[in-house]
Amino acid sequence: MSDRELYCDTCEGVQPFEAPPCVDGHGVDCPERACTGCGAAVLIATFTFRAPRLDSRRRVSTYRRAA
Ligand SMILES: [Zn+2]
Ligand SMILES: [Zn+2]
Repeated sequence: MSDRELYCDTCEGVQPFEAPPCVDGHGVDCPERACTGCGAAVLIATFTFRAPRLDSRRRVSTYRRAA
């Protein structure tokens, strides 16, 4: 259950990521995940903070009353 899907810049898409063998002693809390597609390593914490927000679309009123 350590897999999770994240966006991979290298693969330019969402890929399943898995926890790589941790060499830093993080244990089960290791924030690192490796892309199963290209092997790129990412930090989940970084992803969490930098997750792109899709709510930036402006709600400009498209219907204007011409009267
Ligand atoms: Zn680690
Ligand atoms: Zn990848």
